[in-house]
Amino acid sequence: MLLLILLLFSAAAHGQAAARSVGRPASPGKNSWTVRWEPAKLVNGAPVLFRVRPAARLKSLSARWLGHPVYFDYDQPSKTWYGLAGVSLETRPGDYPLELEGAAPRGGRVRFQRRVAVRRMRYPAISLTVAQKYVAPDPEILARVEQEKALKQEVFARSAPEREWAGKFAAPVEAAISDQFGTQRKFNGVLQSSHQGLDYGAPAGTPVAATNRGTVLLARDLFYEGNCVVVDHGQGLLTLYLHLSEIKVKEGERVRRGQELGLSGASGRATGPHLHVAVRWQGVYLNPATLLRLRLPSGAGGK
Ligand SMILES: [Zn+2]
Repeated sequence: MLLLILLLFSAAAHGQAAARSVGRPASPGKNSWTVRWEPAKLVNGAPVLFRVRPAARLKSLSARWLGHPVYFDYDQPSKTWYGLAGVSLETRPGDYPLELEGAAPRGGRVRFQRRVAVRRMRYPAISLTVAQKYVAPDPEILARVEQEKALKQEVFARSAPEREWAGKFAAPVEAAISDQFGTQRKFNGVLQSSHQGLDYGAPAGTPVAATNRGTVLLARDLFYEGNCVVVDHGQGLLTLYLHLSEIKVKEGERVRRGQELGLSGASGRATGPHLHVAVRWQGVYLNPATLLRLRLPSGAGGK
Protein backbone atom coordinates (compact mmCIF):
# COMPACT_ATOMS: atom_id res chain seq x y z
CA MET A 1 0.00 0.00 0.00
CA LEU A 2 2.77 2.39 0.96
CA LEU A 3 4.51 1.46 -2.28
CA LEU A 4 1.37 2.26 -4.26
CA ILE A 5 1.06 5.67 -2.60
CA LEU A 6 4.72 6.34 -3.31
CA LEU A 7 4.23 5.32 -6.94
CA LEU A 8 1.18 7.55 -7.31
CA PHE A 9 3.03 10.43 -5.70
CA SER A 10 5.99 9.89 -7.99
CA ALA A 11 3.74 9.81 -11.07
CA ALA A 12 2.09 13.06 -10.03
CA ALA A 13 5.46 14.69 -9.36
CA HIS A 14 6.61 13.77 -12.84
CA GLY A 15 3.48 15.07 -14.49
CA GLN A 16 2.58 11.60 -15.75
CA ALA A 17 4.70 12.02 -18.84
CA ALA A 18 4.03 9.10 -21.15
CA ALA A 19 6.29 7.96 -23.95
CA ARG A 20 5.76 5.64 -26.87
CA SER A 21 8.88 3.72 -25.96
CA VAL A 22 7.36 2.70 -22.64
CA GLY A 23 4.19 1.54 -24.33
CA ARG A 24 2.05 3.22 -21.74
CA PRO A 25 -1.09 4.96 -23.01
CA ALA A 26 -0.97 8.72 -22.82
CA SER A 27 -3.26 10.03 -20.12
CA PRO A 28 -3.29 13.78 -20.47
CA GLY A 29 -5.16 15.08 -17.49
CA LYS A 30 -5.10 18.33 -15.61
CA ASN A 31 -1.63 19.67 -14.87
CA SER A 32 0.06 16.96 -16.88
CA TRP A 33 2.41 17.14 -19.81
CA THR A 34 2.72 14.45 -22.47
CA VAL A 35 6.06 13.97 -24.20
CA ARG A 36 6.42 11.47 -27.04
CA TRP A 37 9.13 10.84 -29.56
CA GLU A 38 9.75 9.10 -32.83
CA PRO A 39 11.51 6.75 -33.45
CA ALA A 40 10.39 5.14 -30.20
CA LYS A 41 13.80 3.54 -29.68
CA LEU A 42 16.42 6.29 -29.86
CA VAL A 43 20.02 5.48 -30.82
CA ASN A 44 23.24 7.44 -31.38
CA GLY A 45 23.15 8.89 -34.91
CA ALA A 46 19.36 9.16 -35.12
CA PRO A 47 17.19 12.20 -35.81
CA VAL A 48 14.24 12.47 -33.44
CA LEU A 49 10.84 14.12 -33.63
CA PHE A 50 9.58 15.26 -30.22
CA ARG A 51 5.85 15.81 -29.77
CA VAL A 52 4.72 17.66 -26.66
CA ARG A 53 1.28 18.34 -25.23
CA PRO A 54 1.72 20.82 -22.37
CA ALA A 55 -0.55 20.94 -19.34
CA ALA A 56 -1.97 24.28 -20.47
CA ARG A 57 -2.02 26.46 -23.58
CA LEU A 58 1.30 28.07 -24.56
CA LYS A 59 2.36 30.90 -26.85
CA SER A 60 5.64 29.24 -27.75
CA LEU A 61 7.79 26.29 -26.77
CA SER A 62 11.49 25.50 -26.99
CA ALA A 63 13.84 23.01 -25.36
CA ARG A 64 17.44 22.09 -24.61
CA TRP A 65 18.53 18.62 -25.64
CA LEU A 66 22.10 17.26 -25.52
CA GLY A 67 23.42 20.83 -25.47
CA HIS A 68 21.37 21.93 -28.51
CA PRO A 69 18.36 24.23 -28.79
CA VAL A 70 15.19 22.58 -30.12
CA TYR A 71 12.54 24.76 -31.78
CA PHE A 72 8.90 23.71 -31.53
CA ASP A 73 5.95 24.54 -33.76
CA TYR A 74 2.28 23.96 -33.02
CA ASP A 75 0.35 21.40 -35.05
CA GLN A 76 -3.35 22.23 -34.86
CA PRO A 77 -4.79 18.85 -36.04
CA SER A 78 -2.96 16.85 -33.36
CA LYS A 79 -2.92 19.71 -30.82
CA THR A 80 0.74 19.00 -30.11
CA TRP A 81 3.96 20.99 -30.32
CA TYR A 82 6.58 19.30 -32.48
CA GLY A 83 10.33 19.82 -32.74
CA LEU A 84 13.02 18.08 -34.76
CA ALA A 85 16.32 17.20 -33.09
CA GLY A 86 18.97 14.50 -33.16
CA VAL A 87 21.52 12.39 -31.29
CA SER A 88 25.15 12.54 -32.46
CA LEU A 89 27.02 9.36 -33.40
CA GLU A 90 29.33 9.96 -30.42
CA THR A 91 26.55 10.19 -27.81
CA ARG A 92 26.94 7.45 -25.20
CA PRO A 93 23.94 5.38 -24.15
CA GLY A 94 22.05 6.78 -21.17
CA ASP A 95 19.08 8.86 -20.04
CA TYR A 96 19.23 12.46 -21.22
CA PRO A 97 16.90 15.28 -20.16
CA LEU A 98 14.69 17.12 -22.63
CA GLU A 99 14.37 20.46 -20.87
CA LEU A 100 11.22 22.19 -22.11
CA GLU A 101 10.42 25.83 -21.59
CA GLY A 102 7.21 27.48 -22.74
CA ALA A 103 5.75 30.97 -22.75
CA ALA A 104 2.34 31.17 -21.04
CA PRO A 105 -0.36 33.21 -22.86
CA ARG A 106 -0.53 35.79 -20.05
CA GLY A 107 3.22 36.01 -19.57
CA GLY A 108 5.57 33.99 -17.44
CA ARG A 109 7.51 30.86 -18.27
CA VAL A 110 6.57 27.25 -17.61
CA ARG A 111 9.11 24.44 -17.47
CA PHE A 112 8.96 20.69 -17.73
CA GLN A 113 11.64 18.04 -17.95
CA ARG A 114 11.45 14.54 -19.37
CA ARG A 115 14.31 12.05 -19.42
CA VAL A 116 14.74 10.18 -22.69
CA ALA A 117 16.72 6.96 -23.09
CA VAL A 118 19.39 6.72 -25.81
CA ARG A 119 20.55 3.18 -26.67
CA ARG A 120 23.78 2.14 -28.31
CA MET A 121 23.71 1.37 -32.02
CA ARG A 122 26.60 -0.74 -33.29
CA TYR A 123 27.40 0.13 -36.88
CA PRO A 124 29.20 -2.39 -39.13
CA ALA A 125 32.73 -1.92 -40.54
CA ILE A 126 33.59 -2.16 -44.25
CA SER A 127 36.69 -1.78 -46.47
CA LEU A 128 36.82 0.33 -49.61
CA THR A 129 39.42 1.01 -52.29
CA VAL A 130 39.79 4.47 -53.84
CA ALA A 131 42.52 6.29 -55.81
CA GLN A 132 45.55 6.79 -53.52
CA LYS A 133 45.33 10.62 -53.80
CA TYR A 134 42.15 10.50 -51.67
CA VAL A 135 43.94 8.61 -48.87
CA ALA A 136 47.31 10.39 -48.94
CA PRO A 137 46.72 13.73 -50.70
CA ASP A 138 49.82 15.69 -51.83
CA PRO A 139 50.55 19.17 -50.32
CA GLU A 140 48.83 21.03 -53.13
CA ILE A 141 45.64 19.04 -52.65
CA LEU A 142 45.93 19.34 -48.86
CA ALA A 143 45.89 23.13 -49.23
CA ARG A 144 42.71 22.84 -51.31
CA VAL A 145 41.13 20.51 -48.74
CA GLU A 146 41.96 22.97 -45.92
CA GLN A 147 40.46 25.85 -47.90
CA GLU A 148 37.29 23.84 -48.57
CA LYS A 149 37.05 22.85 -44.91
CA ALA A 150 36.98 26.54 -43.95
CA LEU A 151 34.43 27.26 -46.69
CA LYS A 152 32.14 24.47 -45.45
CA GLN A 153 32.34 25.69 -41.84
CA GLU A 154 31.41 29.19 -42.99
CA VAL A 155 28.56 27.90 -45.19
CA PHE A 156 27.15 25.50 -42.58
CA ALA A 157 26.94 28.35 -40.06
CA ARG A 158 24.68 30.32 -42.41
CA SER A 159 21.55 28.24 -41.76
CA ALA A 160 18.41 30.42 -41.53
CA PRO A 161 16.97 31.10 -38.04
CA GLU A 162 13.45 30.24 -39.26
CA ARG A 163 12.24 26.79 -40.23
CA GLU A 164 12.06 26.30 -43.99
CA TRP A 165 11.16 22.60 -44.20
CA ALA A 166 7.53 21.55 -44.03
CA GLY A 167 6.03 18.08 -43.93
CA LYS A 168 7.71 14.79 -44.67
CA PHE A 169 11.19 14.48 -46.13
CA ALA A 170 11.19 12.60 -49.45
CA ALA A 171 13.89 10.28 -50.83
CA PRO A 172 16.22 12.16 -53.22
CA VAL A 173 16.32 9.33 -55.79
CA GLU A 174 14.48 6.11 -56.49
CA ALA A 175 17.30 3.61 -56.13
CA ALA A 176 18.39 0.81 -53.81
CA ILE A 177 20.53 1.74 -50.80
CA SER A 178 24.15 0.67 -51.36
CA ASP A 179 25.67 1.73 -48.01
CA GLN A 180 24.03 2.58 -44.71
CA PHE A 181 24.74 5.52 -42.43
CA GLY A 182 27.27 4.98 -39.63
CA THR A 183 29.39 2.26 -41.30
CA GLN A 184 33.01 2.30 -40.07
CA ARG A 185 35.00 2.79 -43.26
CA LYS A 186 38.53 1.71 -44.08
CA PHE A 187 39.87 3.38 -47.22
CA ASN A 188 42.73 1.32 -48.74
CA GLY A 189 43.19 -0.47 -45.43
CA VAL A 190 43.22 2.66 -43.21
CA LEU A 191 40.29 3.43 -40.89
CA GLN A 192 39.23 6.87 -42.08
CA SER A 193 35.88 7.74 -40.55
CA SER A 194 32.36 6.59 -40.02
CA HIS A 195 29.99 6.99 -42.96
CA GLN A 196 28.14 10.22 -42.30
CA GLY A 197 25.45 9.76 -44.93
CA LEU A 198 23.37 7.29 -46.87
CA ASP A 199 24.41 5.92 -50.28
CA TYR A 200 21.98 5.13 -53.06
CA GLY A 201 23.29 2.93 -55.87
CA ALA A 202 21.92 5.26 -58.53
CA PRO A 203 23.44 4.97 -62.02
CA ALA A 204 25.25 8.09 -63.30
CA GLY A 205 22.83 10.66 -64.68
CA THR A 206 19.91 9.86 -62.33
CA PRO A 207 17.98 13.06 -61.38
CA VAL A 208 18.55 13.98 -57.73
CA ALA A 209 15.72 15.80 -55.94
CA ALA A 210 15.60 18.06 -52.87
CA THR A 211 14.27 16.08 -49.88
CA ASN A 212 12.34 19.11 -48.59
CA ARG A 213 11.87 22.84 -49.01
CA GLY A 214 14.91 25.06 -48.44
CA THR A 215 17.59 27.35 -49.83
CA VAL A 216 20.72 26.26 -51.73
CA LEU A 217 23.69 27.31 -49.56
CA LEU A 218 26.40 25.70 -51.66
CA ALA A 219 26.52 24.34 -55.21
CA ARG A 220 30.06 23.67 -56.41
CA ASP A 221 32.89 21.19 -56.97
CA LEU A 222 34.86 20.12 -53.85
CA PHE A 223 37.79 17.68 -53.63
CA TYR A 224 36.21 14.90 -51.52
CA GLU A 225 32.54 15.66 -52.14
CA GLY A 226 32.85 16.22 -55.91
CA ASN A 227 29.99 18.28 -57.34
CA CYS A 228 28.09 19.01 -54.18
CA VAL A 229 24.80 20.73 -53.31
CA VAL A 230 23.92 21.80 -49.76
CA VAL A 231 20.30 22.73 -49.02
CA ASP A 232 19.45 24.67 -45.87
CA HIS A 233 16.08 23.78 -44.27
CA GLY A 234 16.50 26.35 -41.49
CA GLN A 235 17.31 26.17 -37.76
CA GLY A 236 20.57 24.34 -38.42
CA LEU A 237 19.10 21.52 -40.50
CA LEU A 238 20.89 20.89 -43.81
CA THR A 239 20.84 18.16 -46.45
CA LEU A 240 23.90 17.46 -48.62
CA TYR A 241 24.02 15.76 -52.02
CA LEU A 242 27.48 14.53 -53.11
CA HIS A 243 29.38 13.13 -56.12
CA LEU A 244 27.00 14.67 -58.70
CA SER A 245 27.93 14.59 -62.39
CA GLU A 246 26.02 17.82 -62.95
CA ILE A 247 24.60 20.60 -60.73
CA LYS A 248 21.32 22.22 -61.82
CA VAL A 249 20.74 24.84 -59.11
CA LYS A 250 22.49 28.03 -58.04
CA GLU A 251 23.65 29.17 -54.61
CA GLY A 252 20.94 31.29 -52.99
CA GLU A 253 18.11 29.63 -54.95
CA ARG A 254 14.94 28.58 -53.08
CA VAL A 255 13.98 24.98 -53.79
CA ARG A 256 10.86 22.95 -53.09
CA ARG A 257 10.63 19.29 -52.14
CA GLY A 258 11.15 17.12 -55.22
CA GLN A 259 12.90 19.85 -57.23
CA GLU A 260 15.82 18.59 -59.31
CA LEU A 261 19.18 19.65 -57.86
CA GLY A 262 21.42 17.83 -60.32
CA LEU A 263 22.36 14.43 -61.71
CA SER A 264 24.08 11.65 -59.79
CA GLY A 265 27.63 10.66 -60.67
CA ALA A 266 31.01 9.63 -59.30
CA SER A 267 32.84 12.96 -58.84
CA GLY A 268 35.17 13.39 -55.82
CA ARG A 269 36.13 10.48 -53.54
CA ALA A 270 33.75 7.83 -54.90
CA THR A 271 34.31 4.17 -55.68
CA GLY A 272 31.78 4.42 -58.51
CA PRO A 273 28.56 6.21 -59.50
CA HIS A 274 26.19 6.65 -56.55
CA LEU A 275 24.40 9.36 -54.60
CA HIS A 276 25.63 10.16 -51.09
CA VAL A 277 23.02 12.11 -49.17
CA ALA A 278 23.76 13.50 -45.71
CA VAL A 279 21.68 15.17 -43.00
CA ARG A 280 23.47 17.71 -40.82
CA TRP A 281 21.69 19.10 -37.78
CA GLN A 282 23.42 21.82 -35.74
CA GLY A 283 26.86 20.40 -36.53
CA VAL A 284 26.11 16.67 -36.17
CA TYR A 285 25.44 14.16 -38.91
CA LEU A 286 22.25 12.11 -38.57
CA ASN A 287 20.89 9.00 -40.25
CA PRO A 288 18.98 10.14 -43.37
CA ALA A 289 17.03 6.84 -43.54
CA THR A 290 15.47 7.60 -40.15
CA LEU A 291 14.61 11.19 -41.14
CA LEU A 292 12.84 9.92 -44.28
CA ARG A 293 10.65 7.66 -42.11
CA LEU A 294 9.55 10.32 -39.60
CA ARG A 295 5.85 11.21 -39.78
CA LEU A 296 6.27 14.99 -39.80
CA PRO A 297 3.19 17.25 -39.63
CA SER A 298 2.24 18.73 -42.98
CA GLY A 299 1.74 22.14 -41.32
CA ALA A 300 2.25 25.31 -43.33
CA GLY A 301 5.75 25.75 -41.88
CA GLY A 302 7.85 28.89 -41.98
CA LYS A 303 6.57 30.08 -38.63
ZN1 LIG B 1 28.37 7.86 -48.92
